[in-house]
Amino acid sequence: ASKQRLLVVANRLPVSAVRRDDDSWHLEISVGGLVSALLGVKEFETRWIGWAGVNVPDEIGQKTLIKALAEKRCIPVFLDEEIVHQYYNGYCNNILWPLFHYLGLPQEDRLATTRSFQSQFDAYKKANEMFAAVVNEHYVEGDVVWCHDYHLMFLPKCLKDSNRNMKVGWFLHTPFPSSEIHRTLPSRTQLLRSVLAADLVGLVNFSPGLDSPGSLNIARVLSLPVLTCRKSWLVKLMIENFLQPKELFFHTYDYARHFVSACTRILGLEGTPEGVEDQGKLTRVAAFPIGIDSDRFIRALELPQVQDHMKELKERFAGRKVMLGVDRLDMIKGLPQKILAFEKFLEENPQWRDKVVLLQIAVPTRTDVPEYQRLTSQVHEIVGRINGRFGTLTTVPIHHLDRSLDFHSLCALYAVTDVALVTSLRDGMNLVSYEFVACQASKKGVLILSEFAGAAQSLGAGAILVNPWNVTEVASSIGYALNMPADEREKRHHHNFVHVTSHTSQEWAATFVSELNDTIVEAQLRT
Ligand code: UDP
Repeated sequence: ASKQRLLVVANRLPVSAVRRDDDSWHLEISVGGLVSALLGVKEFETRWIGWAGVNVPDEIGQKTLIKALAEKRCIPVFLDEEIVHQYYNGYCNNILWPLFHYLGLPQEDRLATTRSFQSQFDAYKKANEMFAAVVNEHYVEGDVVWCHDYHLMFLPKCLKDSNRNMKVGWFLHTPFPSSEIHRTLPSRTQLLRSVLAADLVGLVNFSPGLDSPGSLNIARVLSLPVLTCRKSWLVKLMIENFLQPKELFFHTYDYARHFVSACTRILGLEGTPEGVEDQGKLTRVAAFPIGIDSDRFIRALELPQVQDHMKELKERFAGRKVMLGVDRLDMIKGLPQKILAFEKFLEENPQWRDKVVLLQIAVPTRTDVPEYQRLTSQVHEIVGRINGRFGTLTTVPIHHLDRSLDFHSLCALYAVTDVALVTSLRDGMNLVSYEFVACQASKKGVLILSEFAGAAQSLGAGAILVNPWNVTEVASSIGYALNMPADEREKRHHHNFVHVTSHTSQEWAATFVSELNDTIVEAQLRT
């Protein structure tokens, strides 16, 4: 039998196109969480629909790009510069992104945003309609359409309006904020209504349902919120492992729960353990914790060039413990907080000053947005100060790189690291923490992980969880991690490694699509 077709619709295609001349294009695979996750999905015949990251105003260019991309199973959506400015830079990155990550804008930017809100939202809707037009053009009956992320919240409604029978799922890769935050958004109602047009709404947030169907069933029978059940599951796991349960008890982040309560409070709909109900129509809402293609990382470590690179790194940093940070240079990643905590650690532990190095890969992102430019100079200033303060003629404590690394260099770096440091202020999942764990089979290094990253709910029992706003706590966790005895490191690593290698991106995608198929069958049975 031929495989089921999956149309993956995301703002960006997994390739960037650079024009060489009138009719030839250079295509390059681009970096990002979703891209890495979907690289591992093999059980469907997948097509990608999205923007190629370039403005192509002329017909020849559009034709030749469509042809070039077709070889990569990609179908472009053409957005002009004005739309990209208003929809992508404006509504997506300046409004939704900070809001979903609980980050306020500076007051002046806020007022400016308030003034331009309507035109940006109009552009957002228009862009989503352009995506819908391309989907409709390529859709074949029986296809599953999987819409991704906050860029395309208006898409499920556009698609369902033109074809009620289309199977439409929508997945959010960022956190979904508390309804108290969501209700400040002028377009709050329209966005929720549109997303509810989908058959299945998926959020990243970890829930025990997928790990232990038993506990989810108990929760359903007793009508307990899934959260209660997750907490007891996590507590049990932590107690079994004699690890620190810490403040996690009090932290009740749950994007799926936030989404349902936004629908009940803002739209006045009914929330059920399954999802959200509107006049008898149920939209299923569930958590699908995303993973990585862990084998791809494990296999890479066997390659001679990666082994050579690891050897070089080990020689280069011999006698020092290696700490690693890998982040896009984004406000949500808590880079200043991380570096300040490292400074505090060096301040308080003079004996460690020449025995530890922090390698920070800071991948440039959204470089034309002033807020990101300010962040870049802020980070440079702090790094400069610390290196000036604690460096010697031959060494510095922080190597800060404003660039991205290729896959193999990244793997080598993950593998030689003693302590990885993830200090996101909010993060949908944070795949870097998963990738680090996958590459640590022999070293068994320690992961220090922000409790505000989605990954805290899946790797929380093996990592050292920290509140990135508390530099004192992060600094002491650095000390704890660097001094951790081998048996504790092994135990913690083992826990995380089992999780990362058994909750892969393939499984994530397969689960989402099969749930989407089942949801539709169940809905048909009900009517
Ligand atoms: N990444 C990369 N090269 C780099 C740095 C990062 O390919 O130099 C990848 C990394 O492997 C990971 C992704 O970028 O898959 C970052 O995903 P994550 O979920 O941690 O954060 P996001 O950037 O999506 O917010």
